[in-house]
Parts: sequence; structure tokens; C-alpha cells
Amino acid sequence: MAKEDYYELLGVQKGATEEELKKAYRKKAVQFHPDKNPGNKEAEEMFKKVSEAYDVLKDPEKKAAYDRYGHAAFQGPGGGPGGPGGGYGGGGFHDPFDIFREVFGQGGRGGGGGGGGGIFDEMFGGGGGGGDNGRDGADLRYDLEISLEEAARGVEKEISFRKNVTCERCTGSGAEPGSKRTTCPTCRGAGQVRRSGGIIVFTQTCPTCGGAGSRIEKPCTACHGEGRTPKTSKLNVRIPGGVDSGSRLRSSGNGEAGHSGGQAGDLYIVITVKEHELFERHGDDLFCEIPIKFTLATLGGTIEVPTLFGKASLKIPAATQSGTTFRLRSKGMPQLRGGGQGDQLVRVHVEVPTSLTSEQRKALEEFARICGDADHPVAKSWFDKAKKFF
Ligand SMILES: [Zn+2]
Ligand SMILES: [Zn+2]
Repeated sequence: MAKEDYYELLGVQKGATEEELKKAYRKKAVQFHPDKNPGNKEAEEMFKKVSEAYDVLKDPEKKAAYDRYGHAAFQGPGGGPGGPGGGYGGGGFHDPFDIFREVFGQGGRGGGGGGGGGIFDEMFGGGGGGGDNGRDGADLRYDLEISLEEAARGVEKEISFRKNVTCERCTGSGAEPGSKRTTCPTCRGAGQVRRSGGIIVFTQTCPTCGGAGSRIEKPCTACHGEGRTPKTSKLNVRIPGGVDSGSRLRSSGNGEAGHSGGQAGDLYIVITVKEHELFERHGDDLFCEIPIKFTLATLGGTIEVPTLFGKASLKIPAATQSGTTFRLRSKGMPQLRGGGQGDQLVRVHVEVPTSLTSEQRKALEEFARICGDADHPVAKSWFDKAKKFF
């Protein structure tokens, strides 16, 4: 039977522009779409034909070959006689549903992305995709606990985790070497089945093939047809300085292997920073409390203070009150984005001696006698206020 003319099928003139071709295809594709014509074989045939016609005419190279040689350009082995590249022999047309999806903005493989809208979204669902496109592997989460020191300086860690990787025996096809895959008869390779009730269309994963679009004659003995096998994987991850509890690091492509050609998922490393004995983290600042002797607080001096980056010296001015907070610039956490660094805040806590020798006691009593009421400014102002009440 002679094939119908592609231009006639779409109902356009031979010199039609790209835009006219697209418009004509849209109209015909919607008219003959199987969802609109359930069980109508003729409509389905027409849907395939107009899709094929559009697939050829939208491509300038294929169109030129068709204009010159007609259908002969795409027949027989080895492509058209002298056709450019000779590439489209053997009926290499795309799935009509793929062409439909492309024109109606359904995003390419793997779904996901925005685009489209309304009824066609429901028709073709999000992810999954059909036929040979495969399904992408799942993202994985790995919880990693690190110390505050590691979070401050950054650290490299080797992590090991189990994930599904592409099966070596069948290279992911799921078929025992030597056996074949056949197109799923239920969904005809689409991986999804459509149920329509009037204008509302539901899409379901094909129950026969579970969305793969094909069936295996003999499942691979290593992976039982899954195409993937669980394996312990090791990975070196570089944790940048400045991470905090809840920080997520993405390791692209290190998630689970995809199904039948789908892309691998990503690995997300979720950080927990352990509590530290000395330091409390407040954003990029670190906070610690340090006890000092009351004589030091009174007379002033210098103390050594621990930081996450080694020791630092801190000058305590004379007459420092308990609870005073000092700031050590740039001794806090580095900022994860941008080269800045937080500060370390040191709050001093004045400690009084808990036991005194008789000599110390005598000296202090002598000191107290000399002082009298003088020179305790904090106490003086407090007692001045308190006088009002008693
Ligand atoms: Zn296998
Ligand atoms: Zn199926």
C-alpha cells in the first residue's frame, strides 16, 4: 500500500513554514490522540501517521530528503539513496507519543521540570517517562556526624554505604546475557497506561512491566531482572569549613544507579555537628565561659584562652566584673559562603577562693579593713537604689 503524502496528512501546502507545520500537527494530534478516541484503531493509526509526518517535516534535513525522494528517502537498509548522512534507514522514527510530548511542552526525559500544564500534565505524569528512556536512580541520604573542630577547619572523610549499582552481569538490562527484552504488550512500551473518562485522563504505571516498557525473556541471575545489585560503596567526601548541623552537601551522581539507562541519583550528606565541651555555637560565633581568679579580675593581666584554632591570649583589664564578655576577632567559625569568619566570645566568670589558709585569711581581712566602703562602684549604686525600699 502506498504511503500517504506527509503534507496531505497534515493538511498543509508543500511550502508550509515551520510554524504552520507545528500548528497543523497540533490540531491533528489532538484530534486523533488515543486518549480522545479510546478503542478506535483508525484514529490511533492516524495519530501515528501525523506524528511521523511531522517528525520528518520539522527536521530540515529529513524534510529536504523527503522533498527530493519522497518516502523512498527513508526506506530500505542504509538510508535514502544518497540522502544526507544516509542516517535514517530502517524506519528510525520516534515514538509518536514522544513527538506529541515534545510539541506540547512536556519536557524531555525524566519528566520533573516545569512546563506544560493542565490536562497534558495529568496525561503524561511527572517523572517516569516512557519506553526506552528509563527511570532515574533514587537520591540517597547519608547522615554524617562530625566534631566542632572538624566543622571549623573542614575535613575529608571516607564514608561507606550500600546502594544499588548497575548490575555487572547484565550491564543493567536485567536480561540474562543472550536473552532478549521484548516490548511490553500492555503499554506497548510506554511504561504507562492511560485511562480516560471523558475529558479527564488518568495515567498509571503499567501493571505488567512496572513502568519499564519492556519485559525480559529470562531475568538476569545476578540481579533477578532488577538491572541493579546492592553494593557497598566507598566515597571520599570533602566537608568544607563552616558547615553546621543540618547542612546538606550534594554529591552529584553518587546516588543509586538508574534503571535501564536512566541517570544516577545524587547523594546528599546531611551533617550533624556534635556538641562541644567548651564551645557553644551561635551562628558563626563561638561562645565560651572562662573562670578567672578574683585577684586577676581586680588587678588585670593576660590569660591564655583555647580556640578551635589553637591558643590565643586575652588581656583582662583591671577591675573586670564577673560576666564581662570579651571578643576575640576571627576566632569563630568560617562562613560557609564568603571568606569571612565569626568571632569567639569569652565571658569571664570571677571565682572566689573556696578555702583559705590562715595567712590568706589575715591578708584579706586586712584588705577589707583598708577598703572600708570605698571603691565598689557596682555595689554602691545598687545600695543607693535599695535605700528607697528599706
Ligand atoms: Zn543483572
Ligand atoms: Zn507495560
